[in-house]
Amino acid sequence: EAKLKLFGVQDDLKLSLNAIQVLRERYLLKDQEGNPVETPRQMMERVARAIAQIDASYGEDPEVSYQEFLKTLMALDFLPNSPTLMNAGCPGGQLAACFVLPIEDSLDAIFEALKNMALIHKSGGGTGFSFSRLRPRGDRVSSTGGRASGPVSFMRIFDTATDVVKQGGKRRGANMGILRFNHPDILEFIQAKKKGGEFENFNFSVAITDQEMEAVRKNEKIPLTNPRDGKVWREVSAAEIFNVICESAWSSGEPGCIFIDEINRKHPLKTLGVIEATNPCGEVPLLPFESCNLGSINLAHMVNNGKIDYAKLGETVRIAVHFLDNVIDANYHPLPETERMAKANRKIGLGVMGFADLLVKIGVPYYSQQALKIAEEIMQYIMLQARKTSLELASRRGTFPNFEKSTWYTQNLPLRNATLTSIAPTGSISIIAGCSSGIEPYFALSFRRYVLENTELIEVNPLLEEYLKGLKLSQKDWERILAQGTLQGIEQIPQKVKDLFRTALEIPPEFQVKVQAAFQKYVDNAVSKTINLPQNASLEEVKKVFFLAHETHCKGITVFRQGSRSRQAIYPGLLS
Ligand code: UDP
Repeated sequence: EAKLKLFGVQDDLKLSLNAIQVLRERYLLKDQEGNPVETPRQMMERVARAIAQIDASYGEDPEVSYQEFLKTLMALDFLPNSPTLMNAGCPGGQLAACFVLPIEDSLDAIFEALKNMALIHKSGGGTGFSFSRLRPRGDRVSSTGGRASGPVSFMRIFDTATDVVKQGGKRRGANMGILRFNHPDILEFIQAKKKGGEFENFNFSVAITDQEMEAVRKNEKIPLTNPRDGKVWREVSAAEIFNVICESAWSSGEPGCIFIDEINRKHPLKTLGVIEATNPCGEVPLLPFESCNLGSINLAHMVNNGKIDYAKLGETVRIAVHFLDNVIDANYHPLPETERMAKANRKIGLGVMGFADLLVKIGVPYYSQQALKIAEEIMQYIMLQARKTSLELASRRGTFPNFEKSTWYTQNLPLRNATLTSIAPTGSISIIAGCSSGIEPYFALSFRRYVLENTELIEVNPLLEEYLKGLKLSQKDWERILAQGTLQGIEQIPQKVKDLFRTALEIPPEFQVKVQAAFQKYVDNAVSKTINLPQNASLEEVKKVFFLAHETHCKGITVFRQGSRSRQAIYPGLLS
């Protein structure tokens, strides 16, 4: 009641206060004075209707899909990525979260990419770039006889433009900037964010090949090469560069690494070209001008009587894949090139959120062998069901146009979509769904989270209270739990419950990599996972994590050591 009064919205969705606040600030359509003109339910109806409508263009009945989509969205069993929730059904609505733009080595091409970035950010999408084709700092510029300023200088322009073009005030523009391990400017790139105050709109990743990882392991030299003419600039120790990467990741969380060979080995559209970049959070490697629309199933809702409800999960996958395939046609693209690519390959990225919640609900600790088994089991099931639906869609609507150029063709799998799965961070949609984000363990059992520029959200784990109800904890114990954000040191609480509610910093980093690898095994695109390290983690620990990620066939790796950034997005506990 208080909730409805506070926000003036009458609704039958089961939303938390935080969810309502986020929806109201960023998702609900507003009038010119900035007042919402729709309720969350009406938002779901708008989205379901716009996406279902696409069925009609294939001679199918949109009414059946509308009911299915609406039911699934209203139950918060599945949510599409933010741009779809914000923009579906609006004139010119851009619905995809992720884009990759190419950057060639000429002023003309660089500023063309910059303009395209601005248009995509304005539409609500995030962008990834490889800057590896740009000639290094100090190289010759033949037309002027001057010297080139190098990739990092140009990245600065992209960063500033991102600041200026806010995504309609709803999201901050997000970028991924990638440089190859053997680019002559690699050391400048790795350390560019260290000073702080710059590149806050960029995630940095180094693209590293298997051969380079091997050179690191064997302590060999590698040639740094000018991409303009293929000439060797100088020979350096691979291990030394790797060391600088890990040191920087230890001290600031960046750069991450992407394992570019693994990405291309697994790419079903190898004949179309080489992948050089991913989207901002790394979960979607894409060819130039490709985009991807994402959606995530709320695993917290796929449990019945303490068991995984596979029937419900399968049905939800079917509805979600149909939904996401429709989104490709419902989308208005900011650029003709991205529209052409999206329709030729029809990539979608269905993933999950609420994995940590699911584990609590079935009584399995996140930090256990069984959790790894369950991760594989769930993701394999989702992958198979998604393929089944994509096959069915293809039999009615046709395969994606580039099908015969894909590895699916050689496997005799006529799919509607070149890729089907991807694990997104679900930073915002997990708040709306009220579940744990992506496949992450609980960061803390109570925490302060900062969204947008200045909104502070205080959150307490909703499943915890239920578990602690019977224990008759003292007020003091409760206060301590809330203050520290973990169950550590509270004697009254049985070890079994403590294991179930273990938080990220109480889970060994190597194990977190194994969780990422378990999901990656059954994901077409990639997996977004932050490997959380305690403040006292060593540099060696970081190196171990990077090596392990490569060995276990992850497509990339990002670490975050507690306290290594002056401003974090989430702080554990409620102590200031
Ligand atoms: N993204 C973006 N700006 C943001 C957050 C996300 O452009 O402020 C893009 C980015 O490509 C990211 C993807 O959306 O990789 C998915 O992020 P997330 O799952 O956190 O988005 P949500 O749908 O929860 O908003």
